[in-house]
Amino acid sequence: MGRVRGVDDIVGIDLGTTNSAVALVEAGIPGILASSQGERLLPSIVRYHAGRAVSVGVEARRSLAAHPADTVVSVKRYMGRDRGDAPPAVALGERDGRLAILAGGASHLPEEVSAEILRDLKARAEGALGRPVQRAVITVPAYFNHAQREATKRAGELAGWVVERVLNEPTAAALAYGLSRLRERSKLAVYDLGGGTFDLSLLELREGVFEVRATHGDTCLGGDDIDQALGGWLAERIAASGGPSDMNDPATSTRVRMAAEAAKVALSSAVETEIVLPFLVEQFHFHCVLTREELEKIARPIIDKTRAHCRQALSDAGWTATDLDQVILVGGQTRMPLVRRLVAEWFQCADGAQFGAVRGNLSMSDADRRGPMLNTSQHPEEAVALGAAIQGAILSGSLNDVLLLDVTPLSLGIETFGGLMNVLIPRNTTIPTKAGELFTNAVDGQRELLVHVLQGERERARDNWTLGRFTLSFDPAPRGAARVGVQFELDADGLLHVLARDTRTGCEKRLTIKSAVDVEDTKVQQMVEESVEHALADWDARRWVEASMRGREAAAAARQALGEMQAELPEEVRSRVVRSVEAVESVLAAGGEDAGDLILLQSALKQLDEDTTPLADLLVERAMDELLRRRGALR
Ligand code: ADP
Ligand code: MG
Repeated sequence: MGRVRGVDDIVGIDLGTTNSAVALVEAGIPGILASSQGERLLPSIVRYHAGRAVSVGVEARRSLAAHPADTVVSVKRYMGRDRGDAPPAVALGERDGRLAILAGGASHLPEEVSAEILRDLKARAEGALGRPVQRAVITVPAYFNHAQREATKRAGELAGWVVERVLNEPTAAALAYGLSRLRERSKLAVYDLGGGTFDLSLLELREGVFEVRATHGDTCLGGDDIDQALGGWLAERIAASGGPSDMNDPATSTRVRMAAEAAKVALSSAVETEIVLPFLVEQFHFHCVLTREELEKIARPIIDKTRAHCRQALSDAGWTATDLDQVILVGGQTRMPLVRRLVAEWFQCADGAQFGAVRGNLSMSDADRRGPMLNTSQHPEEAVALGAAIQGAILSGSLNDVLLLDVTPLSLGIETFGGLMNVLIPRNTTIPTKAGELFTNAVDGQRELLVHVLQGERERARDNWTLGRFTLSFDPAPRGAARVGVQFELDADGLLHVLARDTRTGCEKRLTIKSAVDVEDTKVQQMVEESVEHALADWDARRWVEASMRGREAAAAARQALGEMQAELPEEVRSRVVRSVEAVESVLAAGGEDAGDLILLQSALKQLDEDTTPLADLLVERAMDELLRRRGALR
């Protein structure tokens, strides 16, 4: 039965600080879904009117000067934040103990404000397609934490979207650039300079999967700073030519700032532009000519600030610029020629201008190319939305020519001695993959081995998720003598085939598990975060289990030796060993619930080691005697 086209569409959304956009892959080609007016970007601005009405985008921006107290800009900065760590640009308040934004005489949670933008994008997408759409991939900066990603997801749901995935912006950009089809292993830098934020991300593509290796940036650095600086420069010119000498009137200062931005944008393609502000105040008209060169002098210090972040990210990843295969530019501000020049220079790009002009030419066979290629083949302010749409198409199954292999979202392993997790396939392994290990029996005469298949990042089995379990029987063997091989094979469809085989008899059992790869993003994140949160306690728990196994073994061995050598041992040695064995056993009985138990156990074990040295020496002596006697007998 054929699928009803359209019903399964998953759109991609770039929910930006300054601008947002929605895109969809149709007939294999990703495209921006424009508004009925033909606008491709939606300014991320929300205005609250009296009553319940809300306007979003261009309309809200138009009224920004007249109604600053009703209008929210840059809401993305507040997503998933607490009052303490939020930038203080808008009027902030609290609602139910959570950070809220005050606008239009009411308080709004950041995700509620973002939901207005996302609702507008939904109407826009449905208008463009002429049918309802529900499913979306929404992008966030790579550095967003769990709370910020969750808030983004909630915003989507409030707006009526089913959020299929929250995707990192640099990964989306790389997808839009078609970089998932690069050769098997490549390294890229994504330089993203937007309106109010700067991010530099280093990605590594390995067999079709992008990994964020480092990310660095400034959440308060972007094109707005250039507008501001140019606005200041203009204000001086205005004052010098007889205009108002202060810009306190919000309407005037907003006009100047908007003129500054328009001139900046114009100078990305022209080398000279006119700035005309008629009736700036009463009878005063302002007019001047601005050259690209002058703008560059003003902008340079701001762009220079991004350099340290590039350096830091490279050093975090342990890479140098020449390790990179490509540098891609994202964010409207990277249209400025100065930005392109500086980035090409910093990353030692090989002939940036020439490469940049080759649209879609990703061939990297150029053997003598030294630095990375500066790839500017995509529209920098649309790339993130397009990439999100590509991810959406991959998820919905409508785009399958793209090589984008899955990775294991969480580690897979089995429970081993002492209730510990033994990882066979670590998290983020590209699938298909296969791994195996030999296990043995923990106690004498054991007749079966429990294969308890686990998923998760925690040290103790019980803190991970059970995917399945079965037992394999084998002939009773002394402790440590049985040999059971366990193999995990994760196939391209995400099915985990578990095989356990008794290597002596060749008897085996199999189990196939479906849910090893397809895990909800939020659950994965929660698991990973919990593992970080409990890392120390988990580590202690693992060390306790390992030390207590050693302790049990050592105590048993010492008792056995004592029994065997009863007669030969001086009473003093014997009683010391008995005391230290008892000390180990009593700490073991305590169970390790207390963090201090591990230290007690370690010192009791050390004592036991010391006290049993004469025993061990005796045992060695005995063995030597035995050996010599036998040799003598043979002679
Ligand atoms: P964000 O990711 O923050 O939502 P965008 O990627 O849409 O933002 O970038 C917005 C910024 O790009 C603004 O500062 C805008 O002035 C700037 N910008 C847009 N087009 C140009 C251009 N042609 N030349 C220079 N700057 C531009
Ligand atoms: Mg952006």
